[in-house]
Amino acid sequence: MMSQFDLSGRVALVTGANTGIGQGIACALAEAGANIAAVGRSEASRTIEIVQALGRRCVSFNADLSSTAPVQSLVDHIIATFGRIDILVNNAGIIRRADALTFSEEDWDAVLDTNLKTVFFLCQAVAKHMVGWSNQYGPRGKIINIASMLTFQGGIRVPSYTASKSGIGGLTKLMANEWAEKGINVNAIAPGYIATSNTAALREDATRNRQILDRIPERRWGLPTDIGGAAVFLASPAADYVQGHILAVDGGWLAR
Ligand code: NAP
Repeated sequence: MMSQFDLSGRVALVTGANTGIGQGIACALAEAGANIAAVGRSEASRTIEIVQALGRRCVSFNADLSSTAPVQSLVDHIIATFGRIDILVNNAGIIRRADALTFSEEDWDAVLDTNLKTVFFLCQAVAKHMVGWSNQYGPRGKIINIASMLTFQGGIRVPSYTASKSGIGGLTKLMANEWAEKGINVNAIAPGYIATSNTAALREDATRNRQILDRIPERRWGLPTDIGGAAVFLASPAADYVQGHILAVDGGWLAR
């Protein structure tokens, strides 16, 4: 049974792998056997240490994903380094908070560009590579997008973030529809409230922190390691027939 979750020899491109949820995912994939291409603006030093201690290879690739400019050269560089990309995890993302009445165009564009536009074109570049070798009888390509509770709900004071993560839900389904028969699985993970720098402002606001905890049946913030298992599942042969799914890992938030 464990072999269904075995990622030995697979190569995973994880964006934003230096910290937070991306680090949790990269380390879990490595624990299951994958080698890691860690992509981001910052060197993924700590992630490299953890992955290497697990006996896997991890290389950090510098790229600013706030525009699509680096996408093709990044994919080419990773393929030249590792020989292939089997798994793509689109985790890098940003959030800007302000009232909808005063929300700026700059904050709209910054979030949509990073969280949605670059994600789509990175999926496209990697999928073009994957369709070259995947078929329904061989190891399938796996794309995992990081969605959010705001893929399902409206949120408050985060209009561009909500638009981007709602868009991720739709795009995940669209890409699954088009690429399933080409040997690629496209799914998403929707983390609940996870303790990372992305949510530091919420945890520092005692009222918001209490409101959030009161609504989570698990009564705790999630940890990046809580997301790793879901990523291993979706990246593995165990999920070969799972398509266009948005898997909530939320301590029960959506069940309320
Ligand atoms: P985080 O700790 O702030 O990490 C964000 C990551 O994205 C960092 O590695 C960062 O790299 C990278 N990144 C941001 N802008 C980038 C850019 N222009 N180019 C390259 N990399 C960039 O946040 P997190 O909470 O782990 O979030 C990871 C993902 O989960 C995001 O998509 C977020 O929306 C989503 N999410 C988070 C939560 C939560 O509760 N935390 C809930 C639902 C969804 P640098 O350090 O180099 O900037």
